[in-house]
Parts: sequence; C-alpha cells; structure tokens
Amino acid sequence: MRVAIIGAGMAGLACAERLRAGGHAVVAYDKGRGPGGRMATRRMATAAGEIAFDHGAQYFTARDPDFIARVAQWHAAGVVARWPAAGDDAWVGNPAMNAPLRAVADACDVRWGMRIDALVPDGGGWGVRGEGVADDGYDAVVIAVPAEQVAALVAAQVPAFARQAEGVRSAPCWTLMAAFSAPVAVATDVIRRAGMLDWAARNSAKPGRSGPEAWVAHAMPDWSRDHLEAEPAAVATALLAGLAEAVGQDLPATIAVTAHRWRYARSGALGCDALWDGHAGIGLCGDWLLAPRVESAWLSGWRLAEVMPGA
Ligand code: FAD
Repeated sequence: MRVAIIGAGMAGLACAERLRAGGHAVVAYDKGRGPGGRMATRRMATAAGEIAFDHGAQYFTARDPDFIARVAQWHAAGVVARWPAAGDDAWVGNPAMNAPLRAVADACDVRWGMRIDALVPDGGGWGVRGEGVADDGYDAVVIAVPAEQVAALVAAQVPAFARQAEGVRSAPCWTLMAAFSAPVAVATDVIRRAGMLDWAARNSAKPGRSGPEAWVAHAMPDWSRDHLEAEPAAVATALLAGLAEAVGQDLPATIAVTAHRWRYARSGALGCDALWDGHAGIGLCGDWLLAPRVESAWLSGWRLAEVMPGA
C-alpha cells in the first residue's frame, strides 16, 4: 500500500516505522518544522550561547514489552538515557527530548512544515491537500494528530471517527522556559506539584545537556485553563514567581525567558488502542486513544499498523 500519515509525533512515526517494515510505501506530513510534536525541544539563542529546553513531555516510562524493546534499541543507539532524578524508571531523549523521534524520522520520508487540511477521494483511495500540498495516489491514510484536530480531517469521510474524537478533551498547559546567569541553589532537580506549578525541572541537569542553568516549569491544568488567552509575557512573569515560591528563594538573574501555551497538552482517553476503517482505508492513532503518555502514543501507532492489511 501507499500510505499517507498526517502527524509525525510519536504515534505517527511508530505507525510509519512498522508499516515500512511491512513493506509499505509511507509518506508522513507534519505542520511542525522538525521532529517532536509534544516531545518538543525549543532552542533559543542567548548571549551565553544556544540553550535547549524540553518544553513538552519531560520524561517517559516503558512498561509494555514491545515498547521496552524499542526503548532498549534507542538506548543502544544513544538517543535516550535514564534520568534518575525523575524516577528509577524515567527515560529522556538524549541530548534532547525529540532525539528518538529524530532518529525514526530520519529513516522515513517525512515532509516537515506541511499542514494537511483535507482528504479528497482519488480513485479508490485518497489524496491529501494543504497549503502547497496536493499529493494523490494513497491507498490509506493514518491520522495521528491530537483529538481536537481530528474531526476537521475526517468528518465527511468517517463521521463516526469524528464523533469519537470530539468526545475526548485535552487539558491545556502553560510552560515556562527560563535560563539563569547562575545555578538555582536548590538541592533537587525536579519539583512536583508546588503551588500553581504542576512540575518544575532543571532542564540543564538532564543527561547529555550542556550550557547555562535552564529550567522548565508547567502550570497546573486549572491555572492554564483560567489563563488560556493571557499574554505570554504576563504568563512568564507569573510562572517565574511561582518557580521562586516553589524553590523558596529569589531566583538568579534571567538570561532568557519565554512562555509557551500547549492548548492540547494532556489528552483524555477513548479507551482503545487505535481505530481503523478498512472500507474507507482510514485509521486514527495517538495518545488520546489510550492515555496521555509518550508510551501510549507509541503503542497506539504501533498497534494501528498491526491491524492494517498486509502489515
Ligand atoms: P503529538 O506529539 O501531538 O503529534 C502530533 C503531530 O501532528 C504534531 O507533530 C503536529 O505538528 C502534527 N499535526 C497536527 N495537525 C496536523 C495537520 N493538520 N497536518 C500536519 N501535521 C499536523 N508524556 C509522558 O509520557 N510523560 C510526561 O512527562 C509528559 N509530560 C507532558 C507535558 C506537556 C506540557 C505536554 C504537552 C505533554 C506531555 N506528555 C507527557 C504527553 C506526551 O507528550 C504525549 O502523550 C505524546 O507526545 C503524544 O504523541 P502523539 O504522536 O499522539 O501526538
């Protein structure tokens, strides 16, 4: 089969990898400029040099045997590392969170910076359409985007899929990325649930990272929802104050500060691995089918490929 995959995050790339191994010709499209999705890494140029922040997923765990085996391969290739500060079973991308995705994407045909807006019938199959994209001749399409973005792509083609996706809602998350002129003098690298913060971590202490002292902090879901339309600069100021409170001291001078809004950060869960309509030749995968975790996204994509014909 010729398969188009819309969304090259962890779910879409896991599906792409397995379909390719089954002999299918796969093209993935992603509106982002490079690998990551919500396992994102933001790079910032500062007077002290380039600083990288993992501003989406902070770490991941592996419990399913198939995913454990894949993580072991990534570990052998050096693109993931253990991060004991977050737990004995915590893994991170190395040297940045998106490293394992980059490794998978490099072996696939991924078209970055291409947002797909519509699927159009093409003979017995599908074409994909977006700004600057009009590619035809696909036998099947996999949609691997957050739940809230599914319906726009499949409402006309498989209305039941659109309704299922519309029933799953994600929680937003405002994220602070801050680099400092000196270390924050606190003994721990990870802080969980402190005041308005759901999480804060010394990003520069993760394995494989270098450069100035850098922290990432995530606001609580309720706080993020209440401030969803706030200005990023105002949010950054509020989150910096929250971080100072969490560490119990004034922070050193900042050399870079910004805030990022994840409108769809932590998904809900539909309660099944993946969805496949063999008649239409359309499948859905992503964390929102199983659970809001990196491992769930991978499993969803991997298992979708398993139920597609000839995989
Ligand atoms: P995504 O990563 O969202 O990938 C979807 C891709 O589709 C994106 O690359 C996007 O650019 C692309 N796309 C969307 N629409 C289109 C379109 N129309 N055309 C083309 N491309 C499109 N998980 C953990 O396990 N541990 C954690 O600590 C953790 N913390 C998190 C903290 C935050 C702030 C966030 C945001 C997430 C966190 N997660 C965590 C969740 C984890 O990141 C996700 O579960 C996982 O990355 C989802 O992968 P996915 O492939 O399903 O979706």
